[in-house]
Amino acid sequence: MHRALVSHAHGDHAVPNNGLVYCTAATKAFMDHRHGLKLFTEFSVVKYGIPFLLNDVKVTYYPAGHMLGSAQILMEYAGERYLYTGDFKTQEDKSCEPFEYIKCDHLITETTFASPEYEHPDPVSVLKELVTENVNVVIGAYAIGKAQRIAKVLSDFFPEIPVYVHPEIVPFNDIYSAHGFDLGQWKPYRRAEFKEQEQSFYIVSPSQFKRFSRNKNVLKVFATGWKQSYYECDRVLPISDHADWNGLLELIKRADPKKIYTVHGDGTFIKEHLKDSKIAVEIL
Ligand SMILES: [Zn+2]
Repeated sequence: MHRALVSHAHGDHAVPNNGLVYCTAATKAFMDHRHGLKLFTEFSVVKYGIPFLLNDVKVTYYPAGHMLGSAQILMEYAGERYLYTGDFKTQEDKSCEPFEYIKCDHLITETTFASPEYEHPDPVSVLKELVTENVNVVIGAYAIGKAQRIAKVLSDFFPEIPVYVHPEIVPFNDIYSAHGFDLGQWKPYRRAEFKEQEQSFYIVSPSQFKRFSRNKNVLKVFATGWKQSYYECDRVLPISDHADWNGLLELIKRADPKKIYTVHGDGTFIKEHLKDSKIAVEIL
């Protein structure tokens, strides 16, 4: 049977028809909800830090800090340690398991924001700026991961402001609670209630966000690490669940690899940055 090691539940990593999938319990729950009976997949649920064998390869999952259930995958074979980070971030995020630094010989890492121009600000200060504007805000955010992180920060730091969540996102929030991550004081969206508020936040997925493009009564912000949003909005909310330049450098320092393979994004800045070091960089 075809087998797949799945790092996390985002749609560009977790897809149907994979035979036997090895993933964390939370990733399985997200995949079950998204695809249900159409998944055509069996699961082997993996716990962080508990190794298992695949032929002669010892495999261990570690938290990647990207979203609930996200994992880095360490593969040990013939005395060499290969670490695939998956999507990851080192910035604090109370809505998921914190990133763990793992030593390896070969580091396979994402390079989504691997350029010195990217330094992701603290989400609390980013959201505080919105709070001081005292208006109703619609926040576009990915339905799994980003939406819950924003709900959690709002609830923890600005508990006086109501937070509404689109019905499409509610089942994902419930999966977070079921896995021990309470996201605080959010509520399912009620139109009349939202409109009555002097100030409140409404978190919607990208597909719903598009519907607000002509709405003049709310501030429309889209959460992304990129400088510009793919979606029409009043402004970008610079909150990312990927490592920025300094996060990536810290990862490399602490993983201490002899070789790095970069995937997803642009590895050229890292290659240039390490050109006089002992670490070889290959851009895949
Ligand atoms: Zn992802």
